[in-house]
Amino acid sequence: MSENRVVQGRMVTAETLAELIEGEPVMEAESISEADRDCPDCGGDVLSVGYMPSVTAFVVGQKCQDCSWSDTDRD
Ligand SMILES: [Zn+2]
Repeated sequence: MSENRVVQGRMVTAETLAELIEGEPVMEAESISEADRDCPDCGGDVLSVGYMPSVTAFVVGQKCQDCSWSDTDRD
């Protein structure tokens, strides 16, 4: 089940959203969900996606739909 969202004027899937957050292609991504927060930079809506940047890692990333702000739950 793939659900497309619009981020910074561009349609993204879970995989491409994860790639935007990570800065490089990821191995696997879960479906996109709404993060329970507003963007700290612009106050826009924030999306959340869980993904595997490598076989041994799982990261939950967040990305603003309106600006370039993003964050991950990495330490
Ligand atoms: Zn923003």
